[in-house]
Amino acid sequence: MKKIAVLTSGGDAPGMNAAIRAVVRIADYHGMEVYGVSRGYNGLINGQIEKMTPRSVADIIQRGGTILKTARCEEFKTEEGRAKAVEQIQKYGIEGVIVCGGDGSFRGAQLLSRLGIPTVGLPGTIDNDLAYTEYTLGFDTAVNTAVSAINNIRDTMTSHERVSVVEVMGRRCGDIALYAGIAGGAEVIMVPEIPVSIDYICQRLLAGKERGKLSSIIVLAEGAGHGEEISELVEKGTGLETRPVVLGHVQRGGTPTCRDRILASRMSAHAVKLLSKGVGNRLVGVKGEKIFDMDIDEALAQKRTFSKELYDLAIELAN
Ligand code: ADP
Repeated sequence: MKKIAVLTSGGDAPGMNAAIRAVVRIADYHGMEVYGVSRGYNGLINGQIEKMTPRSVADIIQRGGTILKTARCEEFKTEEGRAKAVEQIQKYGIEGVIVCGGDGSFRGAQLLSRLGIPTVGLPGTIDNDLAYTEYTLGFDTAVNTAVSAINNIRDTMTSHERVSVVEVMGRRCGDIALYAGIAGGAEVIMVPEIPVSIDYICQRLLAGKERGKLSSIIVLAEGAGHGEEISELVEKGTGLETRPVVLGHVQRGGTPTCRDRILASRMSAHAVKLLSKGVGNRLVGVKGEKIFDMDIDEALAQKRTFSKELYDLAIELAN
């Protein structure tokens, strides 16, 4: 395969630029041409496709977001939309596509592969909500952003002897809350995978106070409740002054961590290698520091597991 395309789709994640850069440079190194597609699947349908060179990806490895822009595209969910995309792909002589995104984007990649366009997916989402891979691109950066926010919040909470509820992203997946909670020394971590009662939380906070804790931080995944609401209930249940902080989109931006940049570079190299051999319908992931690929259908059928071991560790650490 000599001509491939790359696009970013769904929610943006720090590390997507590092992935684009690696795809372009590694493909070029091996004598392949790369086309950049703007705005996710929209760009495929509308022909927003431009040739990229190693120089067009200069100075982006350290930037969050994605230079190719990302978007959601309802039209790609229709047969007509996908037919238009295939038409454009053929017009440019593109033989394979690399899609960096989340599970929705991978469903699109699966359908594109079925239409005879070998497509490979790179996991780009801060949520770490993809079952087949241990880590996704952007997760490490988002966790580090959340941890540095928690550090700042801790200073002021301790000075005022308050409780803080820090709401982080994660609708179906509590990994950001879990990792940021452990690294930020949270007293309580609330995740969608393990529902807990407000009574239980209040008891733990009061017991902590009894043991001499000067402040408490609850890290809350958005899928486990709303910061404001939980804050009010905790204040009512404990009598301790409690404040909500919703981190929101700050978690989606920022310069990617070293870990995300290296992961993006390694995964992209793997994706280019697959396409160079004409292999499509695969997702690239990492397990035990090893990069691997898996059939898209098989990968999307996997069930996510939540680390109960880390969750239990967090409880002991909050002692
Ligand atoms: P993410 O990739 O982050 O999970 P979305 O679920 O919004 O984000 O999906 C991103 C895009 O992928 C959608 O806007 C659409 O273009 C495409 N997509 C999602 N689901 C499907 C599907 N079932 N069939 C075809 N395309 C899909």
